[in-house]
Amino acid sequence: MRQSRFFTKTRKEAPKDEVSNNASLLIRGGFIDKLQAGVYSYLPLGFRVLKKIENIIREELNKVGGQELLMPALQPKENWQKTGRWDSLDVLYKVTDLSGRENALGPTHEEIVVPLVGNFLNSYKDLPFSVYQFQTKFRMEARAKSGILRGREFVMKDMYSFHANEDDLKLFYQVVWDTYVKIFDRLGLGKLTYPTFASGGSFSKYSHEFQTVTPAGEDTIYICDDCKVAINKEIIEEQKVCPKCSGQKFREEKSIEVGNIFELKTKFSAPFGLTYKDESGNSKEVIMGCYGLGPSRVMGTIAEVFADKNGLVWPANVAPYRFHLIELDGSSNDDVRNEALKTYDAIRKDIGDEVLFDDRDLSAGAKFADSDLMGIPYRIVISKKTLDSKMLEVKDRKTGKIEMVSMEDLKKYYD
Ligand code: ATP
Ligand code: MG
Repeated sequence: MRQSRFFTKTRKEAPKDEVSNNASLLIRGGFIDKLQAGVYSYLPLGFRVLKKIENIIREELNKVGGQELLMPALQPKENWQKTGRWDSLDVLYKVTDLSGRENALGPTHEEIVVPLVGNFLNSYKDLPFSVYQFQTKFRMEARAKSGILRGREFVMKDMYSFHANEDDLKLFYQVVWDTYVKIFDRLGLGKLTYPTFASGGSFSKYSHEFQTVTPAGEDTIYICDDCKVAINKEIIEEQKVCPKCSGQKFREEKSIEVGNIFELKTKFSAPFGLTYKDESGNSKEVIMGCYGLGPSRVMGTIAEVFADKNGLVWPANVAPYRFHLIELDGSSNDDVRNEALKTYDAIRKDIGDEVLFDDRDLSAGAKFADSDLMGIPYRIVISKKTLDSKMLEVKDRKTGKIEMVSMEDLKKYYD
């Protein structure tokens, strides 16, 4: 992409009413735009980050047999009445159409997925399976002051699994746990993210959250550094020792819940009568699990935890582009422009659409400041000076280290 063609621009200041660090940086860098509290547009740069996050999640869920689908956001009141959540769920957005018909804007999809799979599920031979989607959720969040960490409209990956018995659910639950660990590693959040014991509601002793440590978090967790697990503050009264080693040495941290896995058992299959026939032909209730993970919240979390005083710092796996190619005085120096275009084409030929080419007619200082703000991992500079030395100047955004490399040696930054 040539930066001169971008319809968005970086900004010196974030909007005055934006109090969160993640949204301020993302708005200034041209990744998102605020429509109203808790509601944001994802601009081309931000959209690329969001899709990279989604793709990592998708690849890992497909590996464990998850089947991707897409369910509606507009959901009939009757489905929500069946579970009692039309009246009990305080974050539910309700809309009425001209005929008086009432709908919910989906905050989660148990009420939709259970009757949906019921249209196909007959016998124990159909079990187990899992389905998932990336979908826009709506929640009337009271405090929408945390930027894209807490949207009123946001993207969630929600997966639901269906089993013949609790043992089978437990096996898959552990598979998803391990998969989440892999996902957060690939997203660059592995070292900061802890599987966390949280209250399980009425159907199981615990649910498990994946909590990323950051001062911007709204949750408080107690980390056992020996076991690398944590307990949510909300259950520490009941669970006073580490569930793994029974130790009592905890480190208290602020954190943000990036994922959540739940044993639902028959909580939703019961009200919808979701049953299957077992081997003897008896009707049994289906056992369920559900597994949430928020790509837009993950994007905000990454912005929070890796940024420095100059701007965003993306881990390479989720960066909008891998390379930021910057020409200096290319508009007035044909040799610079030609070398920049040659490098641009060479990288694109080797690794595809992974280079943002700053071909704008601006000062070096302005271009470098923008590049730092956007946080693309590797900055390549082509100037009169680099042409004379027949080398490219590469700067690592994270460490600030600058290296002079030949075009051939640039390949070591490809992965
Ligand atoms: P919280 O306690 O932070 O309000 P939750 O427990 O209500 O979250 P879940 O219903 O478990 O959230 O949602 C699954 C995942 O969706 C969360 O782990 C998080 O990653 C994401 N998520 C939930 N609410 C929001 C939101 N308002 N904005 C962005 N992402 C969200
Ligand atoms: Mg949760």
